[in-house]
Amino acid sequence: MKAPLPKNEVLRLGVLHRYGILDTLAEQSYDDITLLASHVCGTPIAIISLIDSERQWFKSRVGLDIDETPRDVAFCAHAILDPDTTLVVPDAQEDARFADNPLVTADNGIRFYAGAPLLSPSGEALGTVCVIDHKPRILTEVQLKALKALSRQVIALLEMRRLVGELEMISTTDALTGLRNRRAFDEKMLSEHQRSARSHQPFSLLLLDIDHFKRFNDDFGHQAGDEALGEVARIMQYTVRSYDVAARYGGEEFAVILPDTDKNGALEMAERLRRAIERAEWLNRKITVSIGVSTLSYGQSVPVLIEAADRALYTAKEQGRNRVVDADVS
Ligand code: GH3
Ligand code: MG
Ligand code: MG
Repeated sequence: MKAPLPKNEVLRLGVLHRYGILDTLAEQSYDDITLLASHVCGTPIAIISLIDSERQWFKSRVGLDIDETPRDVAFCAHAILDPDTTLVVPDAQEDARFADNPLVTADNGIRFYAGAPLLSPSGEALGTVCVIDHKPRILTEVQLKALKALSRQVIALLEMRRLVGELEMISTTDALTGLRNRRAFDEKMLSEHQRSARSHQPFSLLLLDIDHFKRFNDDFGHQAGDEALGEVARIMQYTVRSYDVAARYGGEEFAVILPDTDKNGALEMAERLRRAIERAEWLNRKITVSIGVSTLSYGQSVPVLIEAADRALYTAKEQGRNRVVDADVS
């Protein structure tokens, strides 16, 4: 018998997907939990199962060789219907919900099942920690409590994963513009530099600086200045390609890392950015930027590459602003 969908299914799936756990690799801390579940309950099989829209996917499993099954045959799809209760099926052959389930009717099929729902802090049942046997049985009160405790530990791991992800995002994002911050820029420069040295692919850097921005602040106020910075960032974000990295380099200076991009490609991108910013609808007064472009040459270090772009930017300012200058000709 197929389990009906929980009433909060859309919300439940949203919460599950936000954890970003589906289809991740095996991890020791989750495997420890299934190991403990099978030991404590004395069953040959223990699983951490997550109920996705059409499947149940196993984050960890003991005594089983598959990663997922269709949701239609999942015992756990029944277990999540009552989030606060551990579903115990002493003998699946005697239970109308499961008697004709192919996992039960198969050779050496499932006879015993107990699944403790994985209850998110906001109350959605995401899946279960479950134990399975090929023969009918029951669990003691102590075993049931332990299974429930292990399900809470899975949620604790998922919450930790979510928090680490959030912290990572916060620590690499510039709060005002939403672009990558200087720390993320520095890391990306190093990793792209290494990648480029290995693959012998070119890579380029743009440094942008807003023209006469001090005057803009003086004329329209710091708040309007902040808003203009946000707008420049938005234009950059939708102008660069998905694999380029736009960052806030300093106060009103921005950078774009262009992987696998030679000098011509970089000059083209710089010009596209310069024009997009110049042509945007500006609230107070037109904003323009000057851009320095440098492309990695063999053996060049990261600081030298940055210095070259900075020099080109300085030249662009000297030559009258609102222009792109290539480091090699500056
Ligand atoms: P140039 O064309 O030579 O770049 O002139 P400029 O006035 O832009 O250059 P300068 O470096 O002298 O001044 C940069 C100004 O950017 C100084 C500061 O008021 C402004 N600025 C830097 N960071 C921020 C910020 O976060 N918000 C606002 N509103 N202004 C900022
Ligand atoms: Mg500046
Ligand atoms: Mg400036």
